[in-house]
Amino acid sequence: MTREGRLPGDTCDRNPIWDPEVETENHAQAFARAASAWEKQFRHLMDHSPFYAGRFREAGVGQASVSLKDISKLPFSTKQELKQALDAAPPFGTNLCVKPEQVKRVYQTSGTTGAPSVLALTRNDMEMWTVIGTRTYFATGIHDHSSVLTTFGAGPFVAGHTHFVLSRIGCRSVPVAPGDTDRVIFGLQAGLADTLLGTPSFAQYLANRLENAQPAPSSMALTHIVTGGEPGGGIPAIRDHIQTVLGATVTEVMGIGDIAPSLFGECPEQQGMHFCGGGHVWVELVDPESREPITIEPGAVGELVYTHLTREAMPVVRFLGGDIARIEASACACGRSTFRMRVIGRRDDMFIVRGVNVYPSAILAVVGTFRPRVTGRARVIRKTTDVSVQPPVPVEVEVPDGHAADPRLAAEIEAAIHSALIFRAKVDLVPEPAFGESGYKTRLTVNRP
Ligand SMILES: [Zn+2]
Repeated sequence: MTREGRLPGDTCDRNPIWDPEVETENHAQAFARAASAWEKQFRHLMDHSPFYAGRFREAGVGQASVSLKDISKLPFSTKQELKQALDAAPPFGTNLCVKPEQVKRVYQTSGTTGAPSVLALTRNDMEMWTVIGTRTYFATGIHDHSSVLTTFGAGPFVAGHTHFVLSRIGCRSVPVAPGDTDRVIFGLQAGLADTLLGTPSFAQYLANRLENAQPAPSSMALTHIVTGGEPGGGIPAIRDHIQTVLGATVTEVMGIGDIAPSLFGECPEQQGMHFCGGGHVWVELVDPESREPITIEPGAVGELVYTHLTREAMPVVRFLGGDIARIEASACACGRSTFRMRVIGRRDDMFIVRGVNVYPSAILAVVGTFRPRVTGRARVIRKTTDVSVQPPVPVEVEVPDGHAADPRLAAEIEAAIHSALIFRAKVDLVPEPAFGESGYKTRLTVNRP
């Protein structure tokens, strides 16, 4: 369908792979590259990170080096532990491995649980993020001839680093503040951009809003949408709707604030996101419950775990990212040999109904098929903190104004969830204005006793 890794209609003749040496190497070569970087990184941590030197000692690691092959002997790191390291020595914490004056850029995390965290970068760290990000966005099909309207703010969040990446690729950049829908529509209708970067919630909202608009959205220059910041761009019911209404190819990217803002990028073959962090980040897959290692091979499902190989300030080791992914085949028509994956859901969002693990994104995939009677957004209401949920599972489904009094619709969605996911749900239809979240990001789980 695509000309080996290019977007439909892209007739340029440049290599669609930014960094062929890294992105097409075989597993043995990738491992060797990572192993030699890790050797240096291990020394860096032992010499400069009171946080990790202490943790490694507690785990029984002496002065002898731990090779990459044996990395599973080292303890995991959680978000909470990194936060404790920060709080132990503000503002940068006991895992700052460089002098404070070497910190040249600081991002903050959203701090969904309590105060924000900070992420410190040296010049080399900034460059490393830019290199990985450039591989990632280039993989989606963004080239120097692209013009990109981005809704990722410059700060305080790491998504702001995308501005360095677009500059490195050499494309046209049209920055718009997150959530400024009118300006996005103006920019697209005026023909300022052929590519849009945004969350899938936002792209879906835009598709709903423009579906019956004049001039027809297909008359816009837009041909490519890159979604990130949350899952959704890989869910067929959501992706197909956005692609059909807006006449564009949807690809998705994913990053993790503590690791790199963009680390996985989906190429125009649309078969999952390629790992783009080769040489800088090492990825493991573990069982979400037992935390035993799982081999990264097609069909494997587990939690992604990350280790920085070259980060200077605030490097992390075996970070539990909380994302549960399914590994797709490695070989791809685009020529990359890096593994591909699709995120199934967040570990924290998972619940169990009668012994079966459920991720709310699976519910989105069912709900999306009821468009246009629904907007495509839905969320699970969790009444207790128990991971086990007694059916019927409460689900709120956003509907366009005027569809809330449709008892048949709720029953039909309940039947569809039952048939696809084998559990009973209790669906409440919530009109668009009452759903209560901006169109920019959607929480898939809400705790409400
Ligand atoms: Zn590919």
